[in-house]
Amino acid sequence: MVLRKCGIIFSVVAALIVLGLLTYMAFDLFYAENKYSGAEEEKDELINQTAEEESLTDESGFSSVETGENEEASSEDNGEELPEESSMVVGEDAEKDGLQVVADGDYLLALVTKDTTLRSDYEPVDLVQVPDYMYPSRPLQLRQEAMENLEELWSAAEQEGVILHIISAYRSFSYQEGLFQSYADKYGVNAANRFSARPGQSEHQLGTVVDFGGTTVDLKAEFADTDQGRWLADHAHYYGFTLSYPRGGEATTGYIFEPWHYRYIGREAAMQWKNSGKILQEFLQEKPQNFE
Ligand SMILES: [Zn+2]
Repeated sequence: MVLRKCGIIFSVVAALIVLGLLTYMAFDLFYAENKYSGAEEEKDELINQTAEEESLTDESGFSSVETGENEEASSEDNGEELPEESSMVVGEDAEKDGLQVVADGDYLLALVTKDTTLRSDYEPVDLVQVPDYMYPSRPLQLRQEAMENLEELWSAAEQEGVILHIISAYRSFSYQEGLFQSYADKYGVNAANRFSARPGQSEHQLGTVVDFGGTTVDLKAEFADTDQGRWLADHAHYYGFTLSYPRGGEATTGYIFEPWHYRYIGREAAMQWKNSGKILQEFLQEKPQNFE
C-alpha cells in the first residue's frame, strides 16, 4: 500500500518535471526564433525598403515631402552617386579624415558627433525587442538597460494619458549607410547632413536612442508642441533619457531641432545633464572619453 502510494507520488512528480522542461524548451525556442527574425528583418529591410517607408522610420523633417514616392533606398542602387563625399569613414579612413574613432560604443556617455565615428562593426551585444504595446513602426531593438527604463517612461506617460509610439530605435551601421545615401541622393549631401547622420556617426547605432512619435506631426519640429513632445521634455530625464538636438543647437551639433530624438545615458547622468542646462554634446565632452 505504502509502496503503491510512493509510486503514484513519484509518477506525479516525474510528470510535473517533464511538463516544466517542455514549457521551458518551448519558451526558449520561441524567444530564439523571435530574436533571429528581428535580426533578419533588419537586413531584409535595408535591401528592400523603399524611400517611402524610410520616411516613416527616420527623422528627416521633410517626411511629408516623401510620402507617396516609391524610390529604392538600397545603397547598392546608388553607390556611385556622391563622388567626393561618399567615402566611408571607418578605421584608418577615419584617421585620414580627422575623425576620432569611438573605442567603446557600450559606454553610455560615449561622444557621438560629426567629429567622431563608431566602427562599422560596432554593434551592442544586449539588444532586446521593443514590445508591440509601444507601437514600434517595425521590429525595433534597444539595449537592455535603455529598454527597462523606456518601459517605465512609457507607462508613466500612459498613466497621464500620453500615448507614445516608437518610430525608430537601434540602427546598424549598414542600415544608416543606406539611409544617408538615399537622403543624399534625394536632397543633396549638404541638406541630408542637417537631419541625417552619416554611417558611424548616428547615435542610433549605440542602441540607446529612441525616436518618439504618436502624433500627426511626427518627425517635425511641431512635435515639441504636442502632448507627447511636452511630456517628454518635462519627464524623460527622470528615466535617463536626454534630448540630443535641442532648438538652437545646430551651430554646436550640426543637426536641426529634433524634439523626438532621445538618448539614454543613465538616470544619474541625465539628471546632471538636465541641471547643467547644456547641450548634450557639450555635457558629454566634459566626461572622460576613450578614442582609438
Ligand atoms: Zn533619431
